[in-house]
Amino acid sequence: MKVLVLGAGVVGTAAAWYLAEAGHTVEVVERREGAGLETSFANGGQISACHAEPWANPTVLPKLLKWLGREDAPLVFRWGRWDPALWAWGLRFLANCPAGRAAVNTERTLRIALYSRRCLQDLRAATGLDYDQRTRGILHVYRDPAEFGHARTAARLMRAHGLERSEHDSAQCVAIEPALAPIRDQLAGGILTPDDESGDAHKFTRRLAERAAARGVTFRTGTAILGLEREGDRLTGVVTAAGRLTADAYVLALGSYSPLLARPLGLRLPVVPAKGYSVTAPVTVPASAPTVSITDDEHKIVCSRLGDRLRVAGTAEMAGWDPALNERRWRVVLDRARALFPSGADWSRAEPWAGLRPVTPDSVPLLGPTPIRNLWLDTGHGTLGWTMACGSGKLVADLISGRKPEIALDGLGLDRF
Ligand SMILES: Cc1cc2nc3c(=O)[nH]c(=O)nc-3n(C[C@H](O)[C@H](O)[C@H](O)COP(=O)(O)OP(=O)(O)OC[C@H]3O[C@@H](n4cnc5c(N)ncnc54)[C@H](O)[C@@H]3O)c2cc1C
Repeated sequence: MKVLVLGAGVVGTAAAWYLAEAGHTVEVVERREGAGLETSFANGGQISACHAEPWANPTVLPKLLKWLGREDAPLVFRWGRWDPALWAWGLRFLANCPAGRAAVNTERTLRIALYSRRCLQDLRAATGLDYDQRTRGILHVYRDPAEFGHARTAARLMRAHGLERSEHDSAQCVAIEPALAPIRDQLAGGILTPDDESGDAHKFTRRLAERAAARGVTFRTGTAILGLEREGDRLTGVVTAAGRLTADAYVLALGSYSPLLARPLGLRLPVVPAKGYSVTAPVTVPASAPTVSITDDEHKIVCSRLGDRLRVAGTAEMAGWDPALNERRWRVVLDRARALFPSGADWSRAEPWAGLRPVTPDSVPLLGPTPIRNLWLDTGHGTLGWTMACGSGKLVADLISGRKPEIALDGLGLDRF
């Protein structure tokens, strides 16, 4: 079968890889000059099943009120203009805040995240791909005892779904990651997820694209998709700046841009962009830069050691499809990075970056079939696209190949909305 994958972020590239492995003829269409140059470029680097708790949960509304009007808040809304799709998304987000809904969404996210982590590990073992990966786990740290208490409850739920997590006091946190020693007295405790990982998503995507190309996948880079053509319940072609392309099956993996291309087909995908920022700086004193990936949960900041660089990422700005760097926002991330690891990196040389996370109201991606029979979804991965890319790609490749996926699909598809 010939399959066109639309988008060469980490998600589309992983799908192309697994489709080629399944024996299909695969072409990838991407507007940028290479793979992984948009949201997959400089993210937090974490393979974090431990972040399965959705944004919509019972604690978020009081926090949103507290953060209102604060430019340094972890989450900022700038929905000044009237866009019915944005407000419909907001209502669905609210509907997913009760504890019962959050527990359902945590299970769904964990299902795909744990599967994806296994797929990534298998892929790495099979290919020997190197992308500055670290496998010492992810440690969540807390200053506020109340936040630590809430996190322990969430951790129990995740443990019940098969994710190993252990609780630690401040001294144990420093024993796990000695680079935390300067802030030891501030810590109320931490939660370690030993089997989570970290690595450079862009390096991974670029190198996987090279491997995929070597086994016959065609990457049409520098090719903007202008529109999708539909006749009845089938997609008949893709209109690009370089002409029309056709295939037997199509995978929509355009990240935050998926809903914009799907809307003219009559498909309403509840995905909105949430802009996040990262700063990356050269490591100066290796012993002061962590090798365990760290999450500062109260500030919603993650930190990963990528070779001789330290990457700190976080914050969310709901401000439409504007990828511009807002200096006040990335400086918030930089200040937090300095506060966490003051002598770990040369922060005066930090490079800022911004990317648009494709976020669904329940934080679960959109995977699988659509009412258009030969169009498949692999999008809406939000804060966990790097974590879930391999499992999502394998699952979609299995579905297109007529094979039973290795995990249950219920609750992961468009039919839940
Ligand atoms: C600050 C930040 C930190 C993050 N940290 C983490 C983390 O630690 N762990 C984690 O798992 N996830 C993290 N994420 C989320 C993760 O980066 C995303 O979920 C993931 O990159 C989404 O991948 P994607 O392939 O769906 O989208 P993208 O990488 O955006 O890929 C979509 C591709 O489609 C192309 N495209 C779009 N429109 C068109 C068009 N019209 N024609 C042709 N091509 C088009 C784009 O050029 C792009 O290459 C973070 C995100 C941000 C912003």
